[in-house]
Amino acid sequence: MTIPITNLPTPTITCASCQACCCRLEVMLISDTGVPDRFIKTDQWGGEVMRRLDDGWCAALDRDTLLCTIYEVRPWVCREFAMGSQECISERLHGQ
Ligand code: SF4
Ligand code: SF4
Repeated sequence: MTIPITNLPTPTITCASCQACCCRLEVMLISDTGVPDRFIKTDQWGGEVMRRLDDGWCAALDRDTLLCTIYEVRPWVCREFAMGSQECISERLHGQ
């Protein structure tokens, strides 16, 4: 029997089953939340962004746990990025 695609269960979206896809995105610093200087880079236009390492992930990401090491002072962009949002779903599709 063929199951109509609309009846398939929706996979749960959770950071726990994600390879921190959104932490590979360019993160602009639009206000000072206390991010340590060593994680900040100045881009070619003079703006401040989160530094990323050669593997593509933000320098502040713990590579073993895939958790943010500066969670309490993370940039506003990271705070606004909602788990389960269209942006999140899109990054998971392209980044896993
Ligand atoms: S917010 Fe979305 S893309 Fe970012 S780690 Fe969580 S599930 Fe992955
Ligand atoms: S600051 Fe934290 S939440 Fe934001 S991209 Fe870097 S590791 Fe991810």
